[in-house]
This record gives sequence, structure tokens and C-alpha cells, in this order.
Amino acid sequence: MTGPTGAALGAQAVRGGRGGGRRRPPPLRARVERTARLSPHLIRVTVAGPELAGFNYPGPASHFKILIPSVAGAPLTLPTPGEDGLVGYDPDAPVTMRTYTARAFRPESGELDVEFFVHGDGPAAQWAIAARPGDELGVSSPRRSGFALDPAARWLLLAGDSSAIPALGTILETDPAIEVTCLVELEDGQDAVPFAARRSEAIEWVIRPEGSAPGAALREAIAGRARRLGAGSFWVAGEAAAIRQIRADLLDTADYSREALVTRGYWRGGHSNHPDHDDGAEPID
Ligand SMILES: Cc1cc2nc3c(=O)[nH]c(=O)nc-3n(C[C@H](O)[C@H](O)[C@H](O)COP(=O)(O)OP(=O)(O)OC[C@H]3O[C@@H](n4cnc5c(N)ncnc54)[C@H](O)[C@@H]3O)c2cc1C
Repeated sequence: MTGPTGAALGAQAVRGGRGGGRRRPPPLRARVERTARLSPHLIRVTVAGPELAGFNYPGPASHFKILIPSVAGAPLTLPTPGEDGLVGYDPDAPVTMRTYTARAFRPESGELDVEFFVHGDGPAAQWAIAARPGDELGVSSPRRSGFALDPAARWLLLAGDSSAIPALGTILETDPAIEVTCLVELEDGQDAVPFAARRSEAIEWVIRPEGSAPGAALREAIAGRARRLGAGSFWVAGEAAAIRQIRADLLDTADYSREALVTRGYWRGGHSNHPDHDDGAEPID
């Protein structure tokens, strides 16, 4: 059921990654309403359907799972989680599961926007490129918000790569009533399009030099800002190895406290389906 890359959804994936056995609500069936190419590498896919009445939007930077057919164009057979594994899982019609940000949810119309950074030949990126109105997918419901403004903070430094643009957009749109800077690392400068309806003046683009590792330029840009500036906080997401270096810089070199940081590994070079709960605190192989 689950290949070595974790591409296809297996019983463990639905029963819960950490410890397993945790029963999750069944995925909701949705359909693509429309797509929009926001920049050369960012595609917004708007999905809807009656089952999205059960979708919960807990707040900015909240994430959820998409479930798509593992074979392009195949009909979608969604598994149903049960106490003892999967009910109705069809090994002949496997699905692939990936983590995405709820960019916007409009309960009045039941529409959910998901924005895909189309980075290469990953199944989710390829699905987004090919997505057409009527295509089916499954979505789980986010369980918690991924950002809360510290009421004592006087400034906020947001940072991420292209995969974090949707989450950064949801945070900027909360219009925090403090000084905000938002650093975004791009591989392709043509992707530098404003992505938030509010506080877009806070966005500063960091173009990745050719041959540089993902996140290295972002790390440098953050280090340039991370003098001890008093009460403030950081929210940073991107490639998992880079996030570890950025977190270590902020804790060890710039001497910030853990409480001032939210760091998230969103993907990992050379690995498929990076776990959705990577806070960058533990070493990776
Ligand atoms: C909490 C959370 C929220 C996220 N929200 C979003 C979101 O809203 N939009 C979004 O685009 N992504 C988001 N991501 C990242 C997304 O889950 C990964 O990029 C995912 O791996 C993409 O799946 P895939 O099937 O395209 O590629 P995979 O099959 O997972 O990976 C295939 C190959 O592509 C590489 N790869 C994966 N992602 C990237 C990338 N971003 N850049 C360069 N190479 C990559 C992998 O290292 C691997 O070698 C989020 C991740 C997390 C944990």
C-alpha cells in the first residue's frame, strides 16, 4: 500500500503518524471549481462541494491533507478510517496524501483555496498543474491554527520559501498591529508577486543565487535582521535542513528564547511527503 517514498496512502497514514491508532475523521470529498496561475510557479486551486460544510478553518497557517489519485486521471476512491485500520481502502485504486495550507475558506460558498508551489515532478505539484474543474480530491479538516500573535511582541519577523507563501499570506492578512517584516526566498524572481491582501508592503524578496542550497539565502537574510531587538517573535517555514540551521542561529547565536520562535520544516530535499509536524528542533539524518 505504501511505497518507499510514502507516495501512496497506507493504513498507518490514516491512523495517525505519531503513535498510530488515533482515529481521525474521514476525509471530505471535494471537486475542483477553478484554477488560477498566480505566478509561474504558484497555482491556486479552488475546491468546493457539499461535504466542505464539515470543513473547519481554525485560523492562520493551519494545515490539512489533500488526497489525490496516485494514478493521474484515475477515479478517486477515498478510504474511511476505522478503529482497526482502513475500511474501504482499495489497494487497486491508491491515493496519495500531502500536506497543504488552508489559504482561504469561505463558509458561505463552501469554497476552499489551496495554493501549490509547483516545484518539480512531485505527485501533488503535478496534480495541481493538471487540475481541471470537476476533478475530485479528498481533504481532511485542519485541527489547529499554526500561528498566534504573542500579545507582548513588538515586532514580528516572518520568513519562508515558496512553499510557505500561502501560510505567510494567511498570517499577513491577520494584519498584526505591530511592526512586521516578511522575507520570502524565491528560486525564480518572476514569482515575486504580492500574495497578501493586507500588509503586503512588509514583503521583501530574497532571490536564491544559482547553485545555492534551498534556504541558505533566507538564513543569511534572517541573520542580518536577528540582532537582539527586544520583545518580538519569529515564524519561519521552508526546507527542513535549512530550518534547523535558522533555528540554531536564532537560539545559539542571536540568543533568542524558544518561546520567541515558531519554525516549521515544510519539505525536505530528496524526500517525499515530509511529516507535517516537524518543528525543526530534532536532528534529521
Ligand atoms: C504544515 C505544512 C503546510 C504546507 N503548505 C503548503 C502549501 O500551502 N503550498 C505548498 O506548495 N506546499 C506546502 N507544503 C509543502 C508540501 O507539503 C511539500 O512541498 C510536498 O512535499 C509536495 O508534495 P509533492 O507530491 O509535490 O512532492 P513530494 O512527492 O513530497 O516530493 C518529491 C520531490 O520534490 C521535492 N520537493 C517537495 N517539495 C518541494 C518544494 N517545495 N520545493 C522544492 N522541492 C520540493 C522533494 O524533496 C522530493 O525530492 C506544506 C508542508 C507542511 C508540512
